[in-house]
Formats: sequence, C-alpha cells, structure tokens
Amino acid sequence: MSSTHNALRSILQNPNTVVPTWHTKQLHAQIVKTKPTTLAWIFLIKCYASHGLLRHSLATLNHMRASGISPDRHLFPSLLKASTLSKHFPLAHSLHASAIRLGFHLDLYTANALINMYSKFPPNPNNRNNSNNNNKSTAKIDSVRKVFDTMPVRDVVSWNTVIAGNAQNGMYQESLDMVREMGKENLRPDSFTLSSVLPIFAEHVDVVRGKEIHGYAIRHGFDNDVFIGSSLIDMYAKCTQVELSVRAFYLLPVRDAISWNSIIAGCVQNGRFDQGLGFFRRMLEEHVKPMQVSFSSVIPACAHLTALNLGKQLHGYIVRFGFDDNKFIASALVDMYAKCGNIKMARCIFDRIEMRERDMVSWTAIIMGCAMHGHALDAVSLFEEMLVDRVKPCYVTFMAVLTACSHAGLVDEGWKYFNSMQWDFGIAPGLEHHAAVADLLGRAGRLEEAYDFISNMGVQPTGSVWSTLLAACRAHKNVELAEKVVDKILLVDPGNMGAYVIMSNIYSAAQRWRDAAKFRVHMRKKGLKKIPACSWIEVGNKVYTFLAGDESHPRYDKINEALNILLEQMEKEGYVPDTNEVLHDVDEDHKRDLLRTHSERLAIAFGIISTTAGTTIRVIKNIRVCVDCHTAIKFMAKIVGREIIVRDNSRFHHFKNGSCSCGDYW
Ligand code: ZN
Ligand code: ZN
Repeated sequence: MSSTHNALRSILQNPNTVVPTWHTKQLHAQIVKTKPTTLAWIFLIKCYASHGLLRHSLATLNHMRASGISPDRHLFPSLLKASTLSKHFPLAHSLHASAIRLGFHLDLYTANALINMYSKFPPNPNNRNNSNNNNKSTAKIDSVRKVFDTMPVRDVVSWNTVIAGNAQNGMYQESLDMVREMGKENLRPDSFTLSSVLPIFAEHVDVVRGKEIHGYAIRHGFDNDVFIGSSLIDMYAKCTQVELSVRAFYLLPVRDAISWNSIIAGCVQNGRFDQGLGFFRRMLEEHVKPMQVSFSSVIPACAHLTALNLGKQLHGYIVRFGFDDNKFIASALVDMYAKCGNIKMARCIFDRIEMRERDMVSWTAIIMGCAMHGHALDAVSLFEEMLVDRVKPCYVTFMAVLTACSHAGLVDEGWKYFNSMQWDFGIAPGLEHHAAVADLLGRAGRLEEAYDFISNMGVQPTGSVWSTLLAACRAHKNVELAEKVVDKILLVDPGNMGAYVIMSNIYSAAQRWRDAAKFRVHMRKKGLKKIPACSWIEVGNKVYTFLAGDESHPRYDKINEALNILLEQMEKEGYVPDTNEVLHDVDEDHKRDLLRTHSERLAIAFGIISTTAGTTIRVIKNIRVCVDCHTAIKFMAKIVGREIIVRDNSRFHHFKNGSCSCGDYW
C-alpha cells in the first residue's frame, strides 16, 4: 500500500514517470479514492495510452469529466498519437469529436496530431461514398485539408504533414504548390519537407527540379542530413543519373544503413550490378548492418551476373542475420540459384518457404527455374500445386509453364494452359506465350499446324517467334516449310543472322550445297556479322571472360593443352567435328581449329584445370551454343566425369554422362 502511495507522490511531482500496466490499474483504483487533481487524472489517461490501452484511457477521460474536471489542451495530442500508432480508427474519430466539443481542435498541437492521424488512417467508415480506392485517398486528403484549413495558426509541422500526405497519395502537384504557399506564411521548408518532395521528382524523372531542391538543400545546410541525402540518392538514381547519386552518397558526412541501401539499390536498378555489389561489400567492411531490403537489391544483382559463389556468400549472411524467414528474400534466393545454374538449391529453398507464405512471386520463380533447366514435369506439377493452393498465376508464370510443356512435348497440357490463361485468368497471351505454343507444336512435328498458329495469332509475329518454327523445321528436316518460314523472318527482321545460319544448315543437311552456298553469299553481301561470342565462368570469387579464339588469358597455354588432350580422347570415343556452322571460307582443318576454340570450350577447359575433380562447371554464353559445341560438351562431360552446365541466351543445358538435359533440341 505504501509503495502505491509513494509512487503516487513521485508521479504527481514528476508526470513523466513510466509505470507498468498492472501498476497503472492499481494506481487508478487508489487515485479515484483520493479526489484526484487534474494532473493525476491526466497522468492516468496518458499511462493507459502509452500502454496502448486506449479504451481505458477514454473511459478514464469520461470518468474525469463526469467528476467535473475538464481536460487541458495537452491531453489530446498524446491520445491522438497513441490511437494513430495502434491504428484504432473509431477511437480516433471519437477523440476528434471530443476535441471539437471542448474547443481544442483549434489548438496547434492537437490540430497537427489530427492531420497526422487523418493522413495515416482510412477515411471515416461512416462516409458512404468511399467505395473505390481513388475516392478513398481523396476523402482522406479532404479530412486532412479540412482540419488544416480551419487552423488559426500553423507551423512547419502542420505544413509538412499535409505535404507528405499529399505526396504519399500521389497528389504531387498539390504537394509542390503547398511548398510554395508555405513560403507565403514566412515558413521555411526544412529537411523533412524536402525529403517528402524529392521522391516526387524521382517519380516523374524530373532531374532539373530535383537539382533545384538539391541546391536549396545546400544553401540551407540540409545536404548533410542523412534523410535528405538518401532521398537525393534515390531521386538521381530514378532519373538514371547514377553518377550524381554516387556523388551525393560520398558527400554525406555520416552514412547509415538507409543511405547505403539507397546507393546499392540505385546502382542495381540502373543495371550497374558490379558497382552495386561493390557498395554492398564496403557496407559490410564498414560494419554497417544491412537491412532486409539491401538483400532484395543485391540478390537479383548476383542473379544477373550469374555470380553463384557470391550469391552463396550472400545466402550465408542472410542466414546469419536471421533474414532467411523473409518470403521476399527467399523468393529472390530461389530466382538467384535457378539463374546461377543451381536448380537443386533453388528447389530446396522454395520447399522451405511455408505453404501460406508462398505467393505468386515465389511460385513463379521456382516454376520458371524448373522450366529453364529442362525439369519440365516438375514445372508442370508445381504449377498444378500452385493452382490447388489458390495462388493466381501471372503473365510470367504462364510463360514458364508453357515453356516447360514445350520442352517435355506435353501438347495437350500446353493447349489447356494456353486457353485457361485467357478464359480462366483473363490474361491476354503475348508473344512469349505464342512462341512457346509454336515451339510445342514444332517439337511434336506438327509443323503445318504451328505455321497456321503463328500466321493467325492476332499479334504481329516477330522474327523470334518464327525462328522457333525454323528450328523445328531443321529438326524435322522439312526444307519446303523452312523456306516459307525464313521468308517470313527476313520480312520482319532482315538482319536476322540466326535465320541465315539455320537455313544454310538445313540446305546442307539436305545435301543442297548450291543453295547453302547461295545463302551464305547473300548473307555476306548484306554485310551481316555474327555477334561476337563470349562466355563467362566464375572461379573462386572472380568472373573470367573468354572470346572465341581468345589467347589473352594468362593460363592460355594450359587451357590449350587441356583442349588438345580432351580432343584426342573425344575422337577416340567417336566425336566427329561438325563444321557446318563455321561460316568462314577456310579449309576443313582451319574450320576444326576454329570450333576447338569456341568461347564456351575455352571457359570449360579453364574450369576443368582450375577446380577440383568432380566440381560442377558452370558457364554462361551470350548467344546460342552451336551444334558442334553441343556435341563436344556432351563428350567432355563424360570424359572428365563432371556435370557441365551451360546457360545460353535462352536456357540451361545440363551436360552429364554424355547427354544433355535439352534432349538435343534447343
Ligand atoms: Zn561452338
Ligand atoms: Zn543441350
């Protein structure tokens, strides 16, 4: 009892005392017995509010008023703040009503708290006309504006709250107008104002006006502010001026996790993956703890660079920082592992995401991964599971499942999904979906059907859609249709190098040498050149790049030696070079030598000599793997007893034990 008494006395002397919840209730019982003073009442009300017990607060407020004591104006801001924090909408509205009855709504601090509350809350549910979202945000801004306009005195906080509220609801012009109006009341925008309006210029890619704000910030000494700094970095990055982002970043005297995160995201969004990862490494070196969102930027960067080792390290950090439960991060990891060639790990991470946490993004990532790696049946059964889980597939999910169907030759399923996409999910099929169905029909040998399908697809077919059919014509040795198709391709895409190459190979295969030669001459006359082929391999933490015939690598002698030894063994096993795709006018020996040093072979040989036995070799190539390399790599994988994974511009080839996961159709 005496402890309660002492607590009571100390509270009355020092109204900022913090009291635990259970004690608040005990004190309440004591206080009401003692004819409490205004101060004691207010203390109790604030105590309840600070514990989030808003109903108790309000009941106490009513009790106090019933005993004849009026609350003072300091009470409402803290109650409004508490109800905003706990998102207790009905209570907040009834507080507003009480404030009006007592005349406190005109008080600066109470009104500021009201503006803040309305800009964060949905509009009053009693307002009937708020059925759609647009109306909702307008109604919300209306409530904010109503309070703001009736205020007799306004300070920077009042302006900032309304400006930020407008900006967050997409009412950009209103925000900017208010910054100007604010000056008329002799109030100067502060760092908070500036960080609300900078995202507007970012959204509208208006670097000129963004720079004006930057200038204002410098003149008024706000440019050292971490918030402004981060907003400036974001703004310049969204306006694709990454150099300026980097400069703004370096000018910051103190960098927190938010500013690091802004610069990393800015680099990655602008395709500067290496630079983004560089900043991430430095952030760790400077012992700044990364935020979850930082990983959402750097994992896709690894996926783009197909830097698997780096991706694995990031995964390590993620586990260490305890972010591996986050579904966004998990989805990004699934995508990264799949794109970097480790589909097993991708599947493993996906399986660990809890059922109810799996959303369209994570499902799509794993289905696409399986499809790209030729695990077509897995992709299709995952897609079915997704539907059973009532997760709605999107445009990309259908691309993935249709690709899978075409790789596995599932014609009926493919048609079913293609139709279901439009009729059940209302998604209009795009070029990619049509290309997948054309590919599906082509693979199944239904070439004429594929031709009709592409001719009548309702969208103008591109060269690449026709190209899938041309590849099918090659596989099924249909020269007549191939000629029709190649005309279609060259009509929409006269510079399509691939079409020339495949067509001349189709002629060669049909022993129509004269036609094949004519095609090559035609191609040379047009001055068409192949895109320089380039392959990458990651060894240790470094990515090595190889061009065809490239002798610049410091270990070229060793690479060359390895290729020669391999070639000897390959020939013993029955490998015969296929020189059809060599377009140079050189003798057969020279052609064989050109094939021997195609970029992916250099990369694979380097991988073999620089990693331990049994290590999987992963190589990325910028363009399609040629027929001869595809055969050669099958032999190589068997001879060295390793899995060799090659990703070209559209899919993964898993070479193992003398065969490839693509089933020799790509
Ligand atoms: Zn090749
Ligand atoms: Zn293959």
